[in-house]
Amino acid sequence: MDIRTRLTGGNVVFRKNIDRALILKVATKAEPMVAILSCSDCRVDPEKIFNLSIGDAYVVRIAGNSASEQAVLGSLEYAVETLQVPALLVLGHTGCGAVKAAIEGKAPEGLVRVAHDIDLARHRLSGYHVNSADAVAEENVRLQMRQIAGNSQTIRDAMASGRLAVLGAMYDLTTGSVRLL
Ligand SMILES: [Zn+2]
Repeated sequence: MDIRTRLTGGNVVFRKNIDRALILKVATKAEPMVAILSCSDCRVDPEKIFNLSIGDAYVVRIAGNSASEQAVLGSLEYAVETLQVPALLVLGHTGCGAVKAAIEGKAPEGLVRVAHDIDLARHRLSGYHVNSADAVAEENVRLQMRQIAGNSQTIRDAMASGRLAVLGAMYDLTTGSVRLL
C-alpha cells in the first residue's frame, strides 16, 4: 500500500475512534503528567508502553535518548517550566541501535554528541559490561539524568524545590517490560 494512503487512512480510523471530549479537553490546555526523553526507535513507543492517552505525556525523542543537544534540553525545560510537569523520565531500551553504532564507531556524523555521551557512559563501566550494549544503554540513562540536572538551572531549581522528580528506566524490547532504575 502507498504510504500516503496508509497514513491518511490511519487518520480516518483514528478520528472515528476518537474520544471527542478528551481531544477538546487537551486542545484547551496541555497538562502532561510526565515528560519523557526516549530513543527514536520505532519499537519503543512511550505512550503505548505506559498505556497513556493523548495529552498524558510530553515526549522528546532522539536516537540514543541523549539530552546533550541544546534543543532537546530546551524542550525538556519547556515541559518543566511552562507545562509544569511533575516528573521527567529518561527512557533507554535494550537492543538500542544508536548505542551499538556508537560502540562500533559507526554512528552517523550528526549524532556526534549522542555518540560522545554513549562513549562517556561506556567508560564508566568495567569488565564485560564495556561491550554490552544493554549495560551501556542503562549507564547512558543514568548519565543523562545527571546531565539534565547538571546542564539546566531551570530543571535543577524545580528538583530542589521538590516540584520535579527525575526518573530513569529501561524498556526491554523482548518482553515489553519497563524497569525503573
Ligand atoms: Zn535506541
